[in-house]
Amino acid sequence: MTVNLLDLDAAGLTALLAEHGEKPFRARQLLRWLHQVGQGDFAAMTDIARSLREKLATLATVQPPAVIADRLSDDGTRKFLFDVGGGNAVEAVFIPEEERGTLCVSTQAGCALDCSFCSTGKQGFNRNLTVAEIIGQLWQVRHALDNRPRAGGQGERVISNVVLMGMGEPLANLDHTVTALRVLLDDNAYGLSRRRVTVSTSGLVPAIDRLRDECAVALAISLHAPNDRLRDELVPINRKYPLRELLAACQRYLEKAPRDFVTFEYVMLDGVNDADAQAHELLALTRGVPCKFNLIPFNPFPGSPYRRSPAPRIRRFADILLAAGVVTTTRRTRGDDIAAACGQLAGQVRDRSQRTGQRTVFLRREASEVCL
Ligand code: SAH
Ligand code: SF4
Repeated sequence: MTVNLLDLDAAGLTALLAEHGEKPFRARQLLRWLHQVGQGDFAAMTDIARSLREKLATLATVQPPAVIADRLSDDGTRKFLFDVGGGNAVEAVFIPEEERGTLCVSTQAGCALDCSFCSTGKQGFNRNLTVAEIIGQLWQVRHALDNRPRAGGQGERVISNVVLMGMGEPLANLDHTVTALRVLLDDNAYGLSRRRVTVSTSGLVPAIDRLRDECAVALAISLHAPNDRLRDELVPINRKYPLRELLAACQRYLEKAPRDFVTFEYVMLDGVNDADAQAHELLALTRGVPCKFNLIPFNPFPGSPYRRSPAPRIRRFADILLAAGVVTTTRRTRGDDIAAACGQLAGQVRDRSQRTGQRTVFLRREASEVCL
């Protein structure tokens, strides 16, 4: 059986090569070719001995998920849809800004946690992504960005930050997530600093502890409610790991985190969690946890029962947090025109090639259709 090299971090590559009598420095060389050069063809890896290149060609492949759609928003946000087999697709979103370029990647096809305001959750759980499928999103987007001329005013087309905030719950796919993180941080691969890689979780407490011990990167917690009663409803995993336990896990995480705060994400749902009293309750709840707040205006999707809080309400809510001295930002909604905003990712591929002779990709729940 062949091994997909995009599934392996430095330790995995070193072990694979050792089985074939190769020294560890070969693993570093391979990592550089694969991830820094973006080369997937062994024959082109010129500083690797021909005999090893030939051996690799028989025992390994370099296989990222195939890009099946690539859409550019008016604001420069670019959404990629990847085929992960079995009729499933996942999405990655590139967000260029003046000072940085952020890539938001998926870790699962679907999600089992069923948060009431999330389109991915509504689609149900299909499966965990492999490391190659997680890293492969970055691999492919890098290629796509390198191959396009830069457009003025859209910032650097370079990936400086990676956030695991796409489809799925990264900590429910912890083993693959940790290996993928190690590749992101490896100086011979993407070389990102821990501060520039963020894992967002809805609050799987034991996995937060494991992430801290195995690969502590920046942490964002999807809080969304100031008390257990409301959070039980919005984020059902709260029934298993209530707020008290979640906040204690945040404190433990901070002992090893690359930043000295956690980010609390808070989706703004009109009339549900956006009242002044709830902002005050939130301050009381998080007192003692070094944190920042990131308010996310709710992004609607067909069939969702919620509305986005009006802009003045979001400002007022932010002002209450700011007045208490807590750094609070409001996420700018981007990629609206291509349904690339938080919580709108819900890819599903239906191949109708037999009927139409043409491949058509449907993004379920978005009623949008991309013809390739
Ligand atoms: N499963 C992880 C990461 C993926 S979701 C998590 O829940 O944290 C990334 C972020 O988008 C989370 O904060 C999530 O709560 C938020 N989100 C989900 N649906 C949304 C929607 N419809 N509008 C705005 N934000 C949403
Ligand atoms: Fe899953 Fe996150 Fe969506 Fe909740 S918000 S259903 S954890 S992807």
